[in-house]
Order: sequence, then structure tokens, then C-alpha cells
Amino acid sequence: MSTEVGAARTDWDRATDEVVEHLRALIRIPSVNPPDGGAELAAGHDPRGGETAAARYCAEVLSAAGLEAEVLESEPGRASCFARLPATVRDPQPPLVLLSHLDVVPVEADAWSRDPFGGDLVDGVVWGRGAVDMKDMVAMELGVMLALAREGAERRRDLIFAAVADEEAGGLFGARHWVERRPDLFRGRDGEPAAAALNEVGGYSMTVGSRRVYTIQVAEKGIIWTRLTATGTTGHGSMPHPDNAAIKLAAAVTRLAAEPHPARLTPTVRDFLEALGLTGVIEAAERGDEERLRGELEVGTPDPVLRRSLDAMLRDTVTPTVIRVGQKMNVIPGFGQAEVDVRTLPDTDQQTFLADLSELAGGDVRVEAVLTLPAIVWPADAEIVQRMAAALRRADPGGEPAPMMITPGTDAKALSLLGIPTYGFAPLRLEPEVPFLSLFHGHDERVPVSAIRFGLPVLHEVVRGFVGADHG
Ligand SMILES: [Zn+2]
Repeated sequence: MSTEVGAARTDWDRATDEVVEHLRALIRIPSVNPPDGGAELAAGHDPRGGETAAARYCAEVLSAAGLEAEVLESEPGRASCFARLPATVRDPQPPLVLLSHLDVVPVEADAWSRDPFGGDLVDGVVWGRGAVDMKDMVAMELGVMLALAREGAERRRDLIFAAVADEEAGGLFGARHWVERRPDLFRGRDGEPAAAALNEVGGYSMTVGSRRVYTIQVAEKGIIWTRLTATGTTGHGSMPHPDNAAIKLAAAVTRLAAEPHPARLTPTVRDFLEALGLTGVIEAAERGDEERLRGELEVGTPDPVLRRSLDAMLRDTVTPTVIRVGQKMNVIPGFGQAEVDVRTLPDTDQQTFLADLSELAGGDVRVEAVLTLPAIVWPADAEIVQRMAAALRRADPGGEPAPMMITPGTDAKALSLLGIPTYGFAPLRLEPEVPFLSLFHGHDERVPVSAIRFGLPVLHEVVRGFVGADHG
């Protein structure tokens, strides 16, 4: 397949092969976050400086194609790569950002079938940490930058490449850092913020029943990372008393975890469920019938991970993840802390929600937010979203694009501080048997080359349509 574009054509088979090689090369750079040598030195690989090495790799690829690329470090070893393909018209419109992150989460190498940093290509599948989160998209965005640079057509906007460090730990050394210190990196030359950014997670297809739905991520849930602190009186474990930090903390965490949070339909999620054909789920959520909701999800979505994901799109969630209390079997602890990952729907008032949690936890523990980030929702009828839907329909007439809200947070939250609508759009056509959602941060992370071969021209069509000067 090849596409007529401007002066030059792009051969998508060749372009895909090139992207796959970039993906494999990036996987071989162990840019594990945290990069301080944790995770048993990333299973035999030293991750220190990994993000900088990955940023340099991107910069070299872009420079070789004649683009100016910068490698900027927030801290030694923690670099991001920025490059810009400038508009060719006199009064350009605001830029488009191709956003990605270079870091990956640690691995438990013993649980993998292959070297997580080997970048193996076996039977049309690329294996390794980052194959889906998100070095595949880094490589695809590189591929689109290269294609547009080589095609040499007129551009009505700057196209900005931003592959940043530290997404997996909140972005303080990556997106957040650069948004705060160098907002110009995400703006046009007159200082206007980018019109949009394309980022990770959404874009992949999921199959539910006979429907193949392409997710266009327009929303993210909010975050309240919450800490519980309990204090008590220390003493010998042989002489029990109730002022025990372990008991107080355990009781509070149990109360928080047991509290139900009723299902609530938000507009994005309603549209998404409708596209999936899960009208029974919509009805049950509308009526507040939790039992029927469980049943409808069970019948409608055989994949348990997808079921959990859909359920979490329908409600605020409160998940205890860390409990630290006590040092020794025979010492009653006088201090302990727990951490609870709270995710809120777009119409939840986060302050009220936290106050309710505090009340529920009881007077024995102190409840405080260590990080609060609001939910974000960007317009689902924006020009760029329409281009995504059109490109997907053209590439796969049997598939159905639909807006989606994701339950985790991404660097979109950082760019939202600059008012930049950031959409999750890493288009991949996946066969129903690919356990895609389990591969994010999972063992044996891998991506089929066929999915990239599908997605690369789709991504290119969207970007070229939005940036090209002949598409006024
Ligand atoms: Zn990611």
C-alpha cells in the first residue's frame, strides 16, 4: 500500500519495517523508571541513564532525516527529546504535538518467556518491555515525523515531536517539568499553545461480541493519591493494648476498601458502551441496579480485564495499594502509613470525596492527599477527532471508532495545564485473542507487527490531514 502525498509517496511496508526496527532498538535500551538501579538492575541491564540514551536514539534518527532535534535533561540521565518540523505557510495555525514517553516500568524477568530487553521479533511479534507502553507509539511517531519530512509537502502548522522521561512516576522529570519550565516547547512561535496533542493508550481496537471498536481516548479519570497515617503507643507484643497503629491502620483500610461507590454514567462512557453494544450495562447503570450490572458485564465481556476496566469507568474507585506498619514481631507499632489509589469520575468533586473518605476512615487515622489531579475531558467532536474516526473507517470499514475515557492517568494531565487537548491515539488493529490490556505493565509485553502496519498509515493520515496546508 502506498499513499499519494505531496511530492513524494510513502511506501508503508518499508516505513513499517523501519518503525519496527526503531521499536526493537528502543526496547533494547532499558529506560526503566525508577532509573536508580532498582528491579535487580532491570534484570541484568543497568537502567541508569536509560531515558537519556533513548532520547539520544530518537534525536539521532530525526537528525539523520534532516530535522533539528534537542536532547534536554531535567536531571542527569533523565532526558527528553524534542524536535519540530516547522510550518511552511506565512501565518501558521497552532502546532500539533506528537507526545510520548521514553520510560518503562520495571520487570520481573523470571516471569517472562523472553528477555524483556531483547527486542526479539518472533513470528511477526515484537517482544519486550515497552512494546505497548509505549515505545511502539514512540517509534510510530518517529515514523510519521520521518514520513512528513521526506514527503516535503506544505504545512499549515508546526509539527512537534516530544518524547519525554518519567511518565511512569508522574512526570516530574518529564512532561510536568518541561510544561512548567519550557512551555515554549509546546507552543507555536507566537506563543500560542498547540491545538492538540496525540498521546498513548487509546487508538487500539477491542473486540466485544461481533463488534470491533477503535478507542479514541478523549477523557481520563481524576487522581487522588491518598495517604493514611496512624499513630499509637509502642509496647511489648506480649502485653497487648488497643492503641496499636497496626490495628488502627488495618481497620481504616478495610473500611475504605469495603465502601461501595455506585455506578454513574458519564457522557463519554455512555457513548463508548453503546458502541460496544452493551446497552444492558447502560440500563443497569441508569437504574443503579448493581447486581444486574455485574451480570450484564459478565455476559457482555468475557475478558475479565476488560470487564474490570469497564466497571472502573462507571464509578469512583478506592484501591489500597501500600501498607507499612511495624518493624518486629514482638513490638507493638507506634506509627504506620497506608497508601490508597483513588480515581474519580469527571463529575466527582474531589475535595468532597476526600472529606468523605476521611470521615469513613474514622478518627484513629489522619487522611491526606499527596497528589490530586483533576479528571480531564476534551471535546469528542473536535476536528482532529473527526479525522481519527475518518482515517480508521477508511482503513477498517468493518470497525467502529468510539470515544473512550481511560481509568489511569497519562502525561495528558501535564499538557492540560497549558490548555492543550491531548487525545490518546496510538492506532493498532488487534486480533480478538491478543490480551492487550493485560500487556500494559504486564509480563511478556509484546505487539504484533501487523497492528503497527495497520496503525502507522492511519496515524500518518490524521497528522498529515491536520498539519498539511492543502487540507484547509
Ligand atoms: Zn504509558
